[in-house]
Amino acid sequence: MNDDAAAESQKATPTIIPVDLGDRSYDIVIGRDTIETAGEEIAQRLPGARLAVVTDATVADLHLSTLTKSLDASGIEHVEIVVQPGEGSKSFATLESVIDDLLAARIERADAVLAFGGGVVGDLAGFAAGVVLRGVHLIQVPTTLLAQIDSSVGGKTGINTPRGKNLAGVFHQPDLVLADSGVLDSLPPRIFNAGYAEVAKYAMIRDAEFFDWLENNWRAVAAGWPERDEAIAIACGGKAEIVAEDEREKGQRALLNLGHTFGHALEAATGYSDRLLHGEGVAIGMVLAHEFSFRLGYCSQEEASRVAAHLIDVGLPTRIQDIRGDLPDAAALMRHIAQDKKVKRGKLTFILTRGIGQAFIADDVPGEAAEAFLKEKLDS
Ligand code: NAD
Repeated sequence: MNDDAAAESQKATPTIIPVDLGDRSYDIVIGRDTIETAGEEIAQRLPGARLAVVTDATVADLHLSTLTKSLDASGIEHVEIVVQPGEGSKSFATLESVIDDLLAARIERADAVLAFGGGVVGDLAGFAAGVVLRGVHLIQVPTTLLAQIDSSVGGKTGINTPRGKNLAGVFHQPDLVLADSGVLDSLPPRIFNAGYAEVAKYAMIRDAEFFDWLENNWRAVAAGWPERDEAIAIACGGKAEIVAEDEREKGQRALLNLGHTFGHALEAATGYSDRLLHGEGVAIGMVLAHEFSFRLGYCSQEEASRVAAHLIDVGLPTRIQDIRGDLPDAAALMRHIAQDKKVKRGKLTFILTRGIGQAFIADDVPGEAAEAFLKEKLDS
């Protein structure tokens, strides 16, 4: 085999990351062009199942025909349900319409919902799969970097309510996650980068070596195979490990919220709009979490600066001031934090860190310390 042929054959060999959850265990299959062979993977795992492919209009235009061609080639019966792109689809109204479409298609218990899109489609379709007929199979075929390394793995599904994000949902584990690193080529760079923030999050939580690797390889990750696939596999491995330890977020799974307490408050303050994507909020939140940890005496200034420097290199926002437009004051941001799920009997739960790769759960952070820190950051 010549070098080119060897590289092509390597490209065609997917990496498989198992998620170990007893009788609900499943595989994450990662590779370039895996949607072209999705039918074979699905037919092996769920023989005879019919599929309802839930996707959004953007992903449908770009990639749906490749996926359905593969389903057809494997003789898998399927219907398509297309929702509007964007966070607005994580609503009761869209959930109701998806469930109605599933019932109209006469979905049965042995059939499956296939979520084909970013985190919005994954969360919405996953919730529908979890509740229709009290639960049907779910296959996640995530098409954003964020969805491939985060939202499609671990079984959290849900929608937003007028009182906040992700406040209604169920845990519903997929039977298979199929991540095609090639579909990420069509992502706008801003959306790719927002997902990258969550890749870097795993490094910051418990993998300092991965952080070193990302500092050296982030450009190649953005460019494509093989580094992109490697980063997806390492990040998925990190998530799979944490989910296997604590499926229902009774303990260590909360580490995955690094950067999310501040990040969610900023997302809420900007109305979950295009002003700040989820991953961008997490990027700013992670820098704030490191700086707050420094302020509380846990982490060095150098480590906090290194995190910020890397995210700036990549092109992510890292300061509250990077968000355009007006923002509420520290007291109003604290009200968003207090409404978040990360509050237990009045004490704030933050994910803090002793340095890159050494995040920990602190469930007794005084609200006043967080508010004073935020005020200083808003004024600086
Ligand atoms: P998204 O689903 O809105 O996708 C972003 C945009 O990219 C959309 O406009 C979509 O149409 C488009 N898109 C998707 N794939 C594309 C492709 N291959 N090429 C071109 N465009 C493409 O957003 P997201 O960032 O993927 O996900 C964010 C959501 O994920 C949030 O609602 C967040 O709450 C949720 N989330 C859930 C979990 C979980 O554990 N369930 C974890 C993290 C985030």
